[in-house]
Amino acid sequence: MEVVQTIADLRARVKAYRRKNDQSVGFVPTMGFLHDGHASLLQKARSQSGLVVLSIFVNPLQFGPGEDFERYPRNAEKDLAVAEAAGVDIVFMPSVDEMYPTPTRTTVSVSEVTTRLCGASRPGHFDGVATVVSKLFHIVQPDQAFFGLKDAQQVAVIEQMVLDLNLPVEIVPCPTLRENDGLAMSSRNVYLSPEERQQALVLSQSLQQAKAFIEGKSASSFTSQELEILVRDHIQTAPLAVIDYAEVLSYPTLEPFEHSHSITTLIIALAVKFGKTRLIDNLILQVRK
Ligand code: AMP
Repeated sequence: MEVVQTIADLRARVKAYRRKNDQSVGFVPTMGFLHDGHASLLQKARSQSGLVVLSIFVNPLQFGPGEDFERYPRNAEKDLAVAEAAGVDIVFMPSVDEMYPTPTRTTVSVSEVTTRLCGASRPGHFDGVATVVSKLFHIVQPDQAFFGLKDAQQVAVIEQMVLDLNLPVEIVPCPTLRENDGLAMSSRNVYLSPEERQQALVLSQSLQQAKAFIEGKSASSFTSQELEILVRDHIQTAPLAVIDYAEVLSYPTLEPFEHSHSITTLIIALAVKFGKTRLIDNLILQVRK
């Protein structure tokens, strides 16, 4: 496994690989502090791609003022061990100066799919994501890029960007990995106190309740409002939970589905704060028309 810090170095290595091999290049972009969820993306890349490139970069552009950029957890040593175990070939760990040597004057901004959920509660977040991911795509030039559905809106945004800008990369969405008790794995889970960690189970529990409620029903036999109330009621049983959003939308358009009963896929998307820690989770479901 090679660890590279500069764009020039990364490009040279990918180019050298392509000169000698006609296998595909797979790419997994992350912000590090790797857990089994990240490892599952790396394993999928390992099984589908000839060369596996992992990037670890805490991207300042996607954090708003007062968010956790400064205190975002970092552990390069452990990350390299996880990467090695997953069979990564190249780890790209650029500095902020390497990625943004001068103030950024170009922003990639995706509309419509960014208007709700995290797009609404974290203004500018998806501009930061789309900009860094398009930069990384230009640097790595992968054939496939692997993204977790834990960040389902991010997947929708990246897929839209790839479509609109004709980027020659296949986006591979990957399922959410969870702890044994259901909590979605996240680098931010380390922020939680034992009490918050226990109460955070209401996210996955409420999604499971919604799933049970929908089971066997057609899209016209329930409303998004009904589902939202069911989910909110359960989350609110946790005294420390403060709901940022709990919404039911069609996926991947992320539009309300109320008046078109033609949807086949919906998402129940949650963002809930416990103290200073904001957790997200979601469930994507196929529904009969
Ligand atoms: P992050 O480092 O949080 O920016 O995440 C990097 C990639 O890992 C993104 O594509 C995430 O969606 C994905 N990811 C994060 N948590 C999980 C999880 N629990 N299961 C699967 N993928 C995940």
